[in-house]
Amino acid sequence: MSVPATYPSKPLNDKPHTPVMQQYLRIKSQYPDILLFYRMGDFYELFYEDARRAAALLDITLTTRGQSAGEPIPMAGVPFHAVDSYLARLVRRGESVAICEQQGDPGASRGPLSREVVRIVTPGTVTDAALLEERQDTLVAASVRDGPRFGLAWLDLAAGRFAVLEGAGGAALGAELERLKPAELLLPEGQGADLARCGTAVRSRPPWHFELASASRLLTDQLGTLDLKGFGADELPLAICAAGALLQYVRDTQKSALPHIRGLSVEERGDALLLDAASRRNLELDASLTGNPAATLLAVIDSCVTAMGSRQLRRWLNRPLTSHGVLRTRYQALGALIEARAFGALRDGLRGIGDIERILARVALRSARPRDLTQLRSSLAALPALRAALVPLDSPLLEELRGRTHEHAATVSLLAAAIAAEPASLVREGDVIAPGYDAELDELRRIATHTDEFLLDLERRERERTGLAGLKLGYNRVQGFFIEVARRDAERVPKDYIRRQTVRSAERFITAELKSFEDRVFSARDRALARERALYDEVLTRLIDTLAPLQATAGAIAELDALVALAERAAALEWCAPELSAEPRLSIVAGRHPVVERFSDAPFVPNDLHLDAARRMLVITGPNMGGKSTYMRQAALIAVLAHIGSYVPADRAVFGPLDRIFTRIGAADDLAGGRSTFMVEMSEAANILHNATASSLILLDEIGRGTSTFDGLSLAWAVARDIAGRVRAFTLFATHYFELTTLAAEIEGCANVHLDATEHGDGIVFLHAVKDGPANRSYGLQVAQLAGVPRKVIGEARRYLERLEAQRDGGVSGNGPDATAAQGQLPLQAPAQPDAIRAALGALDPDELTPKAALEALYRLRRLLAEP
Ligand code: ADP
Repeated sequence: MSVPATYPSKPLNDKPHTPVMQQYLRIKSQYPDILLFYRMGDFYELFYEDARRAAALLDITLTTRGQSAGEPIPMAGVPFHAVDSYLARLVRRGESVAICEQQGDPGASRGPLSREVVRIVTPGTVTDAALLEERQDTLVAASVRDGPRFGLAWLDLAAGRFAVLEGAGGAALGAELERLKPAELLLPEGQGADLARCGTAVRSRPPWHFELASASRLLTDQLGTLDLKGFGADELPLAICAAGALLQYVRDTQKSALPHIRGLSVEERGDALLLDAASRRNLELDASLTGNPAATLLAVIDSCVTAMGSRQLRRWLNRPLTSHGVLRTRYQALGALIEARAFGALRDGLRGIGDIERILARVALRSARPRDLTQLRSSLAALPALRAALVPLDSPLLEELRGRTHEHAATVSLLAAAIAAEPASLVREGDVIAPGYDAELDELRRIATHTDEFLLDLERRERERTGLAGLKLGYNRVQGFFIEVARRDAERVPKDYIRRQTVRSAERFITAELKSFEDRVFSARDRALARERALYDEVLTRLIDTLAPLQATAGAIAELDALVALAERAAALEWCAPELSAEPRLSIVAGRHPVVERFSDAPFVPNDLHLDAARRMLVITGPNMGGKSTYMRQAALIAVLAHIGSYVPADRAVFGPLDRIFTRIGAADDLAGGRSTFMVEMSEAANILHNATASSLILLDEIGRGTSTFDGLSLAWAVARDIAGRVRAFTLFATHYFELTTLAAEIEGCANVHLDATEHGDGIVFLHAVKDGPANRSYGLQVAQLAGVPRKVIGEARRYLERLEAQRDGGVSGNGPDATAAQGQLPLQAPAQPDAIRAALGALDPDELTPKAALEALYRLRRLLAEP
């Protein structure tokens, strides 16, 4: 994203630029690619190309401002007091903005005021409450690749959370980016145009920012350590390179110290239940395919009271864990909360707690506003009650969280003493520091505000001196203090009166005594404001000194809130605690789909699912709309819930070790990516065949649909055989091809189930109940009728179908798919070379998939399938 360089760096003609424009162009030349908000009085102005872009992006008026170098200057501006709303709109669109402020006193020197860029607002580094999504992390990420390996670093600046991981393969990197959804992604120049994802602004950074030596130095400097061993990061050079480049960027844009970034956590991909990018989207964990935020798993489970809790829960949901130990401690905590019915009291306690995580980040960046501090004060004051409510609960995890929420008595006292009960919203407005906190400030305030006594006394004395009974003392913001005398008395004032202003029926004067009083008042006011600013800064410094325990408290509160939400949901929705086992097993009794159940008016029909070492693959048949994909998705969602430590919508659920979930569901054409439905389907299938293990859960919905029947059927058949025979993952395979129900007879560990429907008149009633064995009819015509296909067309289709069935029954002995299954072979010529097919599919490595390689593999497949 670069701006056309239409800035007239040299005068367009012989006329020179005005001094202000010279200054502007000098500053702008340092920020050629981003918008420059140039402060002029009460406005931020944009000029030239910036003005045109901002006018289009913000729908503000494009005008001109005088002339420079003999040309009118295109200009657009936004009022400084409303700048937040404009910045919010720009960062949401992926734009960055350099904020250039005036420095020093207007009129103090000749020529333009000095100006300086004080910070750069970028989509991934915003920390102002007005620019952040309340219940979602805003992340900036950086990534660097070396061959197949990649390093990835990401930072939530508004929380100080900084993490890295390393992995291999483009699909893995894509999966991580889909999980984190960074607002901004930094890449070394020339790397990774293929990483563009919607909602992420990609920035090229100089390659030397990603060099190991400088990156390590920057990180150890930031973290205050000798090396990165303590963080477990010293073995991860690519992760460090990415983290260093990221830190450099944040320093460049914030232009301030970052004391709240005190650690670097290293994530292991293997600690998480992995989901590739497509599966994550398909399962609609925290974003729905239709964009409806209510139709997601997160919306069902997020009853968090605080925004911190919601963000924590979203992070958990996006990274389910594989460690049974960690999961058990969470189940146990939920059990304790539910048993004691403790969540009501805890939720009341949490209601008193603000977004202290983000407040602390703003404290660290010294941009915290007075009301941030009063919120911090009231939040910390609410902690003792919350901690007390945790005492009776029998759970090591809750006990640990209670330990991490210290009481912070000293900080509460500091904030109570220093910050006014209801401070102004900005420090520059004054009335922020509490009275009684600082004697000097109190004295300055007394001088600045207790003027009445002196003025009344002066008024009395001047009336006596002049004999003018109508003489009054007054004040206005423009003129300051004055002595007002009626117009007709103006000639009678003493000689030392100096005329200040003439109004309609009066004259206003000042005297030396009043002037010196005024100077004292004004300077006291200025000094009081300056004193307040210094005291406020000192309070921030003292808070920064105790940042670590405060941050620990924020983290513990977020986790507690997330657990309380899960407990509340489990109780309200009658979910059960999962059981974990070391044996390969995935067993669900009376499972429900949490989102479909929530949105459907009809009662949800619970279904069982049993997979174990001897029963690894289910071929699921049944009519369209019968509930096949609901059944498969609910298995995945229940698995995800169990692996974030949540209870699950079932009567009982048992899970053995699970490492990944793959889904090949719904064929959304990747038209933007230039790939057909079939290509998307096949590259997802290839990804599964390459990466699934015996501990994976695979959901395949109507694979092979995107091509001709025989191709599709043969591919589906070969994929299923490869998974069942070699990969041995737990697999749910929904299909329209009845021919595939013969797999059960052919492959060990494979069974048929179907979803049932019954005919009612010439219509159809879906029962949504899963039964053993293959379906015996497809009900396609009934579903088509339900969908509103005209009766005449349905009638013709029925006659055609009867002809087809008669032909088939004449040609093949027996009747229906069961008969075909009994014959133990496919009705079409089964491919003779399963190994060759596997090899051809193997060539479809999604990490190295060029269109040419893909096409070659597909042609090879076609040839194989055509051969008898
Ligand atoms: P298929 O994949 O077989 O075409 P779906 O799984 O999309 O069918 O289900 C179609 C609709 O049926 C769903 O949108 C849901 O409203 C309803 N449905 C599915 N399963 C159940 C169930 N177990 N209980 C109640 N309704 C269900």
